[in-house]
Amino acid sequence: MTIKGQATVVKHTGSHYLLSRLPEWNLFPAVLRGKIRLKGSTATNPVAVGDVVNFEAEADAVEDISLENPAAITSVEPRRNYIIRKSTNLSRQSHIIAANLDRAFIIATIDFPEIKLPFLDRILVTCEVYNVPVTIVLNKVDLYRESHKEMLEAFHEIYEGAGYPVMEVSALTGEGIEALREACRGHVSLFSGVSGVGKSSLIKALDPSLDPRVGEISDVHLQGKHTTTFYEMYSLASGGFIVDTPGLRGFGLVDLKKEEIALYFPEMLEAAQDCRFAPCTHTHEPGCAVKDAVEAGEISYERYSSYLGMLDEEGKYR
Ligand code: GDP
Ligand code: ZN
Repeated sequence: MTIKGQATVVKHTGSHYLLSRLPEWNLFPAVLRGKIRLKGSTATNPVAVGDVVNFEAEADAVEDISLENPAAITSVEPRRNYIIRKSTNLSRQSHIIAANLDRAFIIATIDFPEIKLPFLDRILVTCEVYNVPVTIVLNKVDLYRESHKEMLEAFHEIYEGAGYPVMEVSALTGEGIEALREACRGHVSLFSGVSGVGKSSLIKALDPSLDPRVGEISDVHLQGKHTTTFYEMYSLASGGFIVDTPGLRGFGLVDLKKEEIALYFPEMLEAAQDCRFAPCTHTHEPGCAVKDAVEAGEISYERYSSYLGMLDEEGKYR
C-alpha cells in the first residue's frame, strides 16, 4: 500500500531526514526522491529542518516506515520564512538553517560573557530580513542583576523601545523558565546565541530530558548512518518545538544595500516616513526625522550607532 501525506522535517543527517507530523512526535525516516529544487534558491540544502514536505511510502502505516524502507520526499511546500547561513563571506553558497519559524529566541547575557550590542543588532536585522519575530532572552540574571542594575534597565529601554520583547531568565536558579516555557508552547522556535551564554543549559532547564550537547534524537532512528547532523528540532515536554543552532558564526550575514539597512530597524522605519528625502540614509540629509528622533531620545543612540556601523561595513556582508 502507498501512503501519501505531509510532515515536517525535524532532523537532517547526511542524505537522510527524519519527519514527524507535527504536533505529533513520532519520527520516521525519509530520503529525497529525485531532484528537488526550489525556485531561485542557491542553498546547498534543498530541504531544511522545519520544512513541510509531501512524502510517499510503501507501507501500511507510518509506523511501518523504517530505515530499510524509508519514505520518499516528493516536494517541499512553500516556506513562510527561513534563516540561512552563508558558508563564507566570499562564497555565494548558503545553507538553510531552518524554515517556517514562529519566533527566534536570541539568548544573550549582559555580562559573563559581556554583550556586544552591535553584534546583537546585526542578528536582529537578519531576523527582520527573514521575517522571523524575535524575543531577546537575557540569561544568567542571577550573576548580574545587582551588579549591572543600570545596564540591565538601559537594555530593556533600548530593546523594548525598538519593539523587541525582553525576558530575564536564569537556567541556574530556574527564574523565568516557566515564562519561557509558556512562550515556546504551541510554536516552532529558533534558539540562538553566541557560545557561553547558556543556551544548552536553558534548553535543559526547559526540559530536563533534552541534552543539546549530545543531541536528543538518538541514533537508533538512523543506525549506521553516522554523518554530520546539521540542525535538529527538539520536542519540549511542555509543548512546542525548538531548533537549536550551534553558534552564530556566519549567521547575520545578509545581502543588503546601503539604503535598505534602515528598513530592518523597525523603530527607524517608522520615523523615516517623515524624512524630507526618500530614500534617506539618515546620516547627512537635512530634515531627517530619524536623526531628530535620536536627538529627542525617541530612538536609542546605541541602536543608531549600530546602524551607522552597518552602513560603514556595507560591502563586507557580501
Ligand atoms: P552555551 O555555550 O550557550 O550552550 O552555554 P552553556 O549552557 O554550556 O553554559 C555556559 C556556562 O554558563 C556553563 O558553565 C553554565 O553552567 C553557565 N550557566 C548557564 N546558565 C547560567 C545561569 O543562568 N546562571 C549562571 N550563573 N551560570 C549559567
Ligand atoms: Zn532620514
